[in-house]
Amino acid sequence: MARDVSVPQRVALVGGSGFVGSNLALALAQSSDFDPFVLDTTDEKLALRFASEAPCAFRRCDVLQDTDVLEEAVQEADIVVNLVSHVLPKTFLDNPLGVIDVTLHGSMNVINAAVRNKTRLIHFSTSEVYGKTGGSEAPFSEDHSDCTLGPIDNHRWIYSTSKQLLDRIIHAHGLAGDLDYAIVRPFNFVGPLMDWLGDDADDVPRVFASFLNALLQERPMQLVDGGKSRRCFTYIEDATSALVHIMREPERARNQIFNIGNPANETTIAELAELMRGIYRQETGAGAQVTIEPVASEEFYGAGYEDCDRRMPDIGKIQSLGWTPQTGLQETFERSIRYCIDNAAALGAASVKAPV
Ligand code: UDP
Repeated sequence: MARDVSVPQRVALVGGSGFVGSNLALALAQSSDFDPFVLDTTDEKLALRFASEAPCAFRRCDVLQDTDVLEEAVQEADIVVNLVSHVLPKTFLDNPLGVIDVTLHGSMNVINAAVRNKTRLIHFSTSEVYGKTGGSEAPFSEDHSDCTLGPIDNHRWIYSTSKQLLDRIIHAHGLAGDLDYAIVRPFNFVGPLMDWLGDDADDVPRVFASFLNALLQERPMQLVDGGKSRRCFTYIEDATSALVHIMREPERARNQIFNIGNPANETTIAELAELMRGIYRQETGAGAQVTIEPVASEEFYGAGYEDCDRRMPDIGKIQSLGWTPQTGLQETFERSIRYCIDNAAALGAASVKAPV
């Protein structure tokens, strides 16, 4: 039976109170076509993102334990978005078993519920599944690139491996004909509410928060192994718009994998440090004396780290749905830094040291 398009689609965002989920919930809530609700263990970021809007519906749910809450939500929803993950590389190194618990077992509960209830699934994979050899492989293509990981001792790849297995399980359900899915692979999304700031934050957040913390606290910005690695940073509003395109195109997106990223925004991490210091200085008048220093990856992350030297997406597939990224590198970081400065206290940073 054809869907009644006058009724907004119910979208369950599972693990949806993190950085991507809270921004996606806001984008969906601002469209009359969608009626999002969030399942997570906390609604902290969601509440911050919806500060000046009517709050988004929230249900407390630990996907490993509250399987009845999860089941009911997946039953009610037209679309379930699985955002359940540990996302910080430092966590992959410090707590590999925790990564397996949440990312693999937690996601399996969501996938199985989607299969049982015949609910369309949009699953968050990761650009990490492509692994480490971007220099020779770029750009990474969803349907052609190899997934190339290091040895087991380099347990940084535990997250990538978990996500790859989930992609293969979902793909197998597609082959069995019992799941309608789209898999998305984010390439370094940046924007409001990415990682917490300040002393109480995770001890090593991702590079954006790590550099911003250094600027806020006037301590050196550290370039892991000299900052030679390359990333393509994608502004979160571009990313959430790509997801809306996928939601609106159930037929063309059916059982496909999509990279979401901005290849035009490629930069080395060393160049990023300069860029962020410049923007911070322009926004606050401070930061000029903050140094940029190399650090060995072993010292910074501990044993088991291995980097992806270049991570660039082929975005032909998502572009064929009519989406293209709009936000350049400078604007991506200007907007992200400005949000953090304006909301420093709420994000955990005591304050910006110099007058803004
Ligand atoms: N990195 C860095 N300094 C930091 C944090 C990260 O040089 O304070 C590097 C990290 O080694 C990697 C890149 O920045 O090469 C991006 O790291 P991030 O943690 O943001 O995530 P990734 O893109 O590796 O998943």
